Amino acid sequence: MEGPRKRIGPIVRILRRTYPGSRTALEFRSPLQILVATILSAQCTDDRVNSLTPALFRKYGTAADFAAADRTELETEIRPAGFFRNKAKSIVGAAGRIVSVYGGAVPGTMEELLTLPGVARKTANIVLAAGFGRAEGIAVDVHVARLAGRLGLSREKVPEKIERDLLRIVPRGDWLDFNFMLVNHGRAVCRARKPLCAACPLGALCPSAGQLCMARAKVGAGRKSSK
Ligand code: SF4
Repeated sequence: MEGPRKRIGPIVRILRRTYPGSRTALEFRSPLQILVATILSAQCTDDRVNSLTPALFRKYGTAADFAAADRTELETEIRPAGFFRNKAKSIVGAAGRIVSVYGGAVPGTMEELLTLPGVARKTANIVLAAGFGRAEGIAVDVHVARLAGRLGLSREKVPEKIERDLLRIVPRGDWLDFNFMLVNHGRAVCRARKPLCAACPLGALCPSAGQLCMARAKVGAGRKSSK
């Protein structure tokens, strides 16, 4: 099979055709809301975050509102998203800096976003892409990390290193949508436990096509024979 540089063009074309208009499943109406929703989405499903944020955004309409939030009250409100103490700390801390340094508006560059407490590259990339329509990198979440490995686009395990590999081969014009398309593909077809390789439109371009199913079949056969 050809190397990732030769395969990435056709992979992106197929992803665009299969998942047109890919965007984040998180619901938001402003850069502040996507920032808060993305912080909440760590280790939590987008559906669960979306079930919490309407009430949250009604109560806290501005960065100043979040910055002035009673921490215990906010923790209770976001508790279903998990890791609620850390997430409340990040939200209040980020909002505080947005108010004190950026006049209440979420900053629109990677450099500035990374100065906000609790905001690392993945969150910053999603805020830039979804909230500002800007791509300064590619957000590497669990789906992107898994698919980058299976598709042979990166051998790295650490998100920052996977992103570095992807930025070398994915054309800059595709950075904006790349995360959202891979997330959609990871949820619909290339699932963590049972990838649907037989139905995958990327099958001919994927070095892992069928191997994961075969590996499982062998494990299954091994279990049967050992009984
Ligand atoms: S062929 Fe299989 S492993 Fe490769 S991207 Fe498709 S579902 Fe994932």
